[in-house]
Amino acid sequence: METPKNPTPVNQRIREGLSRVAMAMRTDDWNRAKTSGLNPTQLAILELLEGREDGLSVKEIAANLGVSQPTATDSITALERKGFVAKRSAGTDKRGVNVGIAPEGLSVLEAVRSSQSVAEQSVDALADHEQEDLLITLVKMIRHLQEIDAIPIQRMCASCRYFAPFSHSDVAQPHHCNFVNAAFGQRDIRIDCREHETADPASRAATWDVFQQG
Ligand code: SF4
Repeated sequence: METPKNPTPVNQRIREGLSRVAMAMRTDDWNRAKTSGLNPTQLAILELLEGREDGLSVKEIAANLGVSQPTATDSITALERKGFVAKRSAGTDKRGVNVGIAPEGLSVLEAVRSSQSVAEQSVDALADHEQEDLLITLVKMIRHLQEIDAIPIQRMCASCRYFAPFSHSDVAQPHHCNFVNAAFGQRDIRIDCREHETADPASRAATWDVFQQG
């Protein structure tokens, strides 16, 4: 029998908690996608491609979404048929083909985001300092998942070559973004920034040391 005196390990209970949040988010994703005649994987592909001018290969899309390449291919084909994505040559590799978002796909994202998700509503119910703590905790968890190769590198400040953590004495805005040359605070840390450029491994490690000690 489980009691407060003899609980399951904390990592297990947090995983259970995250799984309840994920359940609500999955329902959310279905409802949001349905309004645009998509399924959640197709919507996730549009969100992934937003802001990536060179697009991504099918392999990269599959890896980022944690789905098989055939599943990614099926969803891309459906999106292409609707005119929401288009194939283009892959950067310097003239033989390669990437998938990029089309203007019609961007319009779909705009429409989908006009209503607030239940996940966003549940975050709004937290106090400001709780939101900030949760954001930083998520950054740390995502970073760990990247380090153990469970997920690809995300477009987070923590891995960005423009990120200079704790370079200002202002406690409200201690970080600096060299892309826009501006200071910003902990609650402005990005999880998925369009301007992100991945730093080299040594710089990423050094930046992370400063960030987590700050
Ligand atoms: S470019 Fe984006 S990801 Fe990079 S430091 Fe600036 S805000 Fe963060």
